[in-house]
Amino acid sequence: MQRRGVTVWFTGLSGAGKTTITRAIAEELRAKECQLEILDGDIVRENLTKGLGFSKEDRDINIRRIGFVAHLLTRNGVIVLVSAISPYREVREEVRKTVGDFVEVFVNAPLGTCEERDVKGLYKRARAGEIKQFTGIDDPYEPPLNPEVECRTDLEELSESVAKVMNKLEELGYISAKVAV
Ligand code: ADP
Repeated sequence: MQRRGVTVWFTGLSGAGKTTITRAIAEELRAKECQLEILDGDIVRENLTKGLGFSKEDRDINIRRIGFVAHLLTRNGVIVLVSAISPYREVREEVRKTVGDFVEVFVNAPLGTCEERDVKGLYKRARAGEIKQFTGIDDPYEPPLNPEVECRTDLEELSESVAKVMNKLEELGYISAKVAV
């Protein structure tokens, strides 16, 4: 059962596991009949933030726009799952302040693991110089200093990562442990 809105912000390198965890969490929340929305970085860049590039300035605008929408939904009682690399700490903190009900999940796997997975073949292209300003290769990633949850996806099963996030949402009072009847 759902109590109030919250933005759950998944940050991490490409291939760290943000999309995979987000989808699994969404399933769990649907089973609890929670109202939820997913804001996926790749999809957002095709519409809401279409035309933006990967300079620091454009990345910050991208994150601010996602944060703005997340804020609107959160204050209307929705659980918002944001999955975006969001490499810069300062703008993540800015969004945290704007949204208020904000849970940061650091989806963490070493660069080598992400590169080995190369889910979308992007690391190979970045190494070949076909993609510039690729986070982790020739663009920075600033890890959260105090995330509410850290998922080490190179060491944990998906189910463990999902349980960590769900437990935190329960602990913070955003969802109840009981399944809706
Ligand atoms: P991102 O959205 O961060 O770019 P994806 O979710 O698309 O990453 O890809 C992560 C890959 O890592 C998937 O192929 C997934 O199956 C794998 N993986 C292995 N262990 C885990 C885990 N514990 N949590 C999430 N993903 C995992």
